[in-house]
Amino acid sequence: MKKAIEKVLVVNSGSSSLKYQLFDMKSEKRLAKGLVERIGAGGPANHAEALKQVVADLGNPKDIDAIGHRVLHGAEVFKDSVKVDAKVMAKLKKLVKFGPLHMPANLGGIEACQKIFKGVGNVAVFDTAFHQTMPDCAAMYAIDEKYYKKMGIRKYGFHGTSHKFITQEAAKLLKKPLSKVNLVTCHLGNGSSLAAVKGGECVDTSMGLTPLAGLVMGTRCGDIDAAAVLSIMEEEKKTPAEMDKLLNKQSGLQAISGVAGGDMRDICTKAAQGCKKAELALEMWAYRVALYIGAYNTVVGGADAIILTGGIGENSAEGRERVVNRLGALGIKLDKKVNAKTRGVVATISTKDSKIPVIVLPTNEELMIAKDTVRILG
Ligand code: AMP
Repeated sequence: MKKAIEKVLVVNSGSSSLKYQLFDMKSEKRLAKGLVERIGAGGPANHAEALKQVVADLGNPKDIDAIGHRVLHGAEVFKDSVKVDAKVMAKLKKLVKFGPLHMPANLGGIEACQKIFKGVGNVAVFDTAFHQTMPDCAAMYAIDEKYYKKMGIRKYGFHGTSHKFITQEAAKLLKKPLSKVNLVTCHLGNGSSLAAVKGGECVDTSMGLTPLAGLVMGTRCGDIDAAAVLSIMEEEKKTPAEMDKLLNKQSGLQAISGVAGGDMRDICTKAAQGCKKAELALEMWAYRVALYIGAYNTVVGGADAIILTGGIGENSAEGRERVVNRLGALGIKLDKKVNAKTRGVVATISTKDSKIPVIVLPTNEELMIAKDTVRILG
C-alpha cells in the first residue's frame, strides 16, 4: 500500500531568494519555515546550492513525502496544479516567456529538488490556475485576435492560490457548498488583486496578462490608458524595459504619495501628519478597490460575502475603513469597533444589519500549495 503523504515541503523559488515551509498534513500545521537569500549574488551560487542549505537547516530530513512549488505562470496549458515529470517540465520551459524574471527561478527550484530529493514527487502550483475558469468575455482583450493566437495575449490573473484558499475557507465559514458560493475576494498586499467568484469558480480578476493591471498597488500603477503609456514613451524616448520599470517599480502608492516603497503603514502615518499626497494616494487606492468590488458584485450576481486578505486586508484597519466606507450603495456599513481591533484573524467587520458581510480572512498560500500537492499526488 502506498504510504500516505504526511510531510510536504513547499518551495517558493524567486530569482535571488528561496522561501520554504514544511507542513505536517495530518494536522495541517507548519513544522518549519525559512528563507535563503542572495542566490547568485554573494550567497549560494544557484538554486541547487540554496536547497542544500535548506536541507541542512531542516536537519537532513529523510521523511519528506512530497514537494509543492509555487510557479508564476501556467498560461492556458495548466488549468490545475500538476505533477512534474519530464514532459511537464518541457511544457513549463515553453512558458518562460510569460514570466522571464520568475519562471526560470521557479523551474530552477523544481530541478534542484528533483536532484536533491530523489524519488520524491514534485507538484507545480500556479498563480494563474484558479483564474482559468474565466469566460472569454472577461479574459479577452478587445484587440485583433491574432495577438492572442500568436502571442497568447489575454488576461490570466495572479494570486490564484490565495484567491482559491480564501474561497474554500469562506465557503466553510458561510456553511455553503463550494459550488454554491458567490464571493468578491480581495487580496490586498503590496501587490493586489480582486477576483469575482461565482459558484466557487473564478469568473473575473483584476490583474491581466501580467500583474500590472487592476488596482493601485505599492509600486504598480494598475489600470491606465494604454495611450498614456505610448505618450510617455514617445515624449521621453523610453525603451519598453524602461517603461516596464516605471509602471511596475516606480508608480502606484509610492509615486502618488512620494513615500519610497509605497508601504501602507508609512503612507497612513504620513497622511495622519497632514501630507496631502499621502492622503490622495490612500483615497485613490481605496476608490479603485471599491470600484472593483462594486463591479464584481454585479459580475457574480450578488455576492454572499466580500473577503479581505493579504498584508493590508488582514492588518490595516485604516485601509479597510477607507474601502468599506465607499460600499454604502451595496447596503454595507463598517463595524468600526471590530474593524479597529482586527489584525490577522478571521472577523466580520461589517455591521450585523449590512446586506453583504465583509469578512477578514487570513490567507495561507503555502498551506494551499501543500494541500494541492497532496491532492495531485494522492
Ligand atoms: P503583503 O504584500 O501581503 O505582504 O502586504 C504588504 C502590505 O501590507 C504593505 O503595504 C504593508 O504596509 C501592509 N501591512 C502589513 N502589516 C500591516 C499593519 N500591521 N498595518 C497596516 N498595514 C500593514
